[in-house]
Amino acid sequence: MPWDPLGPEQRELRELVRTVAREVVAPRAAEIDASHTFPWDVVEAFREAGLFGLFFDEEDGGTGTGVLLSLVAIEEISRVCATSGLILAVQELGSLGLKLAGSAEQRAAWLPRLASGEVLAAYALTEAGSGSDSAAMRTTARADGDGWVLDGTKRFITNAGVAGLYTVFAKTDPEAGHRGISAFVVEADTPGFEVARLEEKLGITGSTTGELVFDGVRVGPDSLLGEVGEGFRLAMRILDRSRPGVAAQALGIAQGATDYALEYARTRETMGKPIAQHQLIAGKLADMETSTEAARGLLYRYGRMVDEGAHADELTKASAMAKLYCGDVAMQVAVDAVQVLGGYGYVREYPVERFMRDAKVCEIGEGTSEIQRIVIARQMLREIGA
Ligand SMILES: Cc1cc2nc3c(=O)[nH]c(=O)nc-3n(C[C@H](O)[C@H](O)[C@H](O)COP(=O)(O)OP(=O)(O)OC[C@H]3O[C@@H](n4cnc5c(N)ncnc54)[C@H](O)[C@@H]3O)c2cc1C
Repeated sequence: MPWDPLGPEQRELRELVRTVAREVVAPRAAEIDASHTFPWDVVEAFREAGLFGLFFDEEDGGTGTGVLLSLVAIEEISRVCATSGLILAVQELGSLGLKLAGSAEQRAAWLPRLASGEVLAAYALTEAGSGSDSAAMRTTARADGDGWVLDGTKRFITNAGVAGLYTVFAKTDPEAGHRGISAFVVEADTPGFEVARLEEKLGITGSTTGELVFDGVRVGPDSLLGEVGEGFRLAMRILDRSRPGVAAQALGIAQGATDYALEYARTRETMGKPIAQHQLIAGKLADMETSTEAARGLLYRYGRMVDEGAHADELTKASAMAKLYCGDVAMQVAVDAVQVLGGYGYVREYPVERFMRDAKVCEIGEGTSEIQRIVIARQMLREIGA
């Protein structure tokens, strides 16, 4: 039997994910991409199969089957459709604030509904003027009676318009830099909250990416997540745990592109033999498979670290390395897959150009590849006490 990092129960659940990927998601992938429409039917299939539950503990309504399996689930879905894989990854991204800093009441109110997929979640950190430099945000939350009033605009927010719950970061003390930021959970139907527009994008076209406007949005005291002034630290702790979701999406894209290129190269003949037997193509296939497997090694290592109880401080570097490497590998492998298919790689009839367009965001979202390198180098210096 081939080596498998998953235990028997996890393998059974992976089989379930593979079935959903094969039977429901794969036949829809090209249409989701072409129509630029959020796939609610895929969400419904995930709900029915209980896939959102893979990201939650048993006491919160989930399966409690661990982080490694949750990453494998994103990978397996992204192998056929990165937009659909992202639905799972962003459910985790948008729920992590509650998991890490939510009060017992907040957790009880929201986590079971997120675990069932009844409510979709989003994470709103970025603004037009603050992406990599997220502490430069301008959205404010002003204390008002026992609650808060939010004003400002967020940009590039995944699940805009489809999420029922947004984790929002805002300045409660604009003079205090990153120590003046706090986190809130805001329901989509709160008066003053509006999705102003959705972006037209290069890839993951079925996923919504939008601008959120907060115009005097009044929320109660129960919407504050954690302590006042602790929002920036929470935002970074969330990213430590959510970046592997993007890495898993990237890994799925890389594997999907490799699988497709291999099958094509096996059957396409030039100069009297299958192109897979021409050494330059064989070498490309070998490099694609090797870098994809190396990326998997880094990502699964992260999953096992969490499941085996690694300290939170150790996750920062492991998570950034997985995101950086998987993202860069997905991009390179997808470009190579287009090359293996030649002219057929360049047309919409075949999925590899979609993989190539979808891969790019993995080097940008939740911290660019440059930012991952900064995070990794900073941790390296910390490790040697510098
Ligand atoms: C499809 C999509 C979905 C997204 N979803 C979300 C979401 O759900 N929630 C959310 O909050 N945000 C989301 N984002 C925003 C994303 O996280 C930011 O776009 C990203 O962090 C980069 O920020 P920026 O676009 O402002 O680029 P900038 O920060 O302006 O960076 C521009 C370039 O400069 C480089 N750079 C910046 N600072 C440095 C530095 N110090 N050293 C070296 N290089 C540097 C960057 O790497 C990049 O190459 C999404 C973005 C996209 C495209």
